[in-house]
Amino acid sequence: MTESRVAIVTGAAQGIGAAVAQRLAADGHKVAVVDLSADAAQATVDAIEAAGGTALAVGADVSDADAVDAAFAQILDGLGAPTIVVNNAGIIRDNLLFKMTVDEWDLVMAVHLRGAFLMTKAAQKHMIEAGFGRIINLSSTSALGNRGQANYSAAKAGIQGFTKTLALELGKFGVTANVIGPGFIQTPMTAATAERIGVTFDEFIEAVAKDTPVGRVGQPDDIAHAVSFFASEGAGYVTGQVLYVAGGPKA
Ligand code: NAP
Repeated sequence: MTESRVAIVTGAAQGIGAAVAQRLAADGHKVAVVDLSADAAQATVDAIEAAGGTALAVGADVSDADAVDAAFAQILDGLGAPTIVVNNAGIIRDNLLFKMTVDEWDLVMAVHLRGAFLMTKAAQKHMIEAGFGRIINLSSTSALGNRGQANYSAAKAGIQGFTKTLALELGKFGVTANVIGPGFIQTPMTAATAERIGVTFDEFIEAVAKDTPVGRVGQPDDIAHAVSFFASEGAGYVTGQVLYVAGGPKA
């Protein structure tokens, strides 16, 4: 029987985060659904509640320290002390290096790295007090290098180093930290990429599926399933790992 915990999922209004939030709720946890606005997060909360779960919509920009503090106060008050955190909020600002602006670099670093740092720093205190914690950070196969994504691949590789360090520092307190590196997942983010490169989303999906060993693209639930494993009680001896969920092997 899974013990009911309080989980936070960032960027959970849509895409992977929404599926992760719903899966953790189905696993019996109370879920703080964090996104840029509480209004945007509400649809995920409604879906969780309709399925019999408990959730709270929280508006916060994860790269803003004051907003993160306010979000934690709201979560503590509304759900209790969080001991599962999924750092999923993310953005892309793709460009070839010679065209990439400093703003495009800084924004991507801020949301992925500063955001994961601020959220995890605020959460670890509660995990240490509870003697239990699960930190799950979203990287990407782009961490291995991807044309047009110097900013994003650097941030996603950074997430891996950050997480391995958390595993070293927090293991003795019952806290694990792991990374999931999705390949192509069918979400609004990849739909936006299709639009940017000038193909339909269906054409993009078909081309990627052809190149993927399992013969299909990923769905948000594929990632939610992996998160559910890392968040589980039984995964306490698995920490500092990077799991690529990409329909094929990645190094
Ligand atoms: P998505 O559909 O774009 O959803 C991301 C969510 O995060 C959006 O609701 C977005 O809000 C929110 N967000 C953005 N900046 C935020 C901030 N500063 N604070 C709080 N929330 C913020 O993306 P996704 O495809 O589900 O991706 C989720 C995660 O998986 C990301 O970390 C992404 O890099 C990673 N990933 C995705 C894929 C893929 O193929 N989809 C592959 C590898 C890794 P707005 O819509 O208002 O910006």
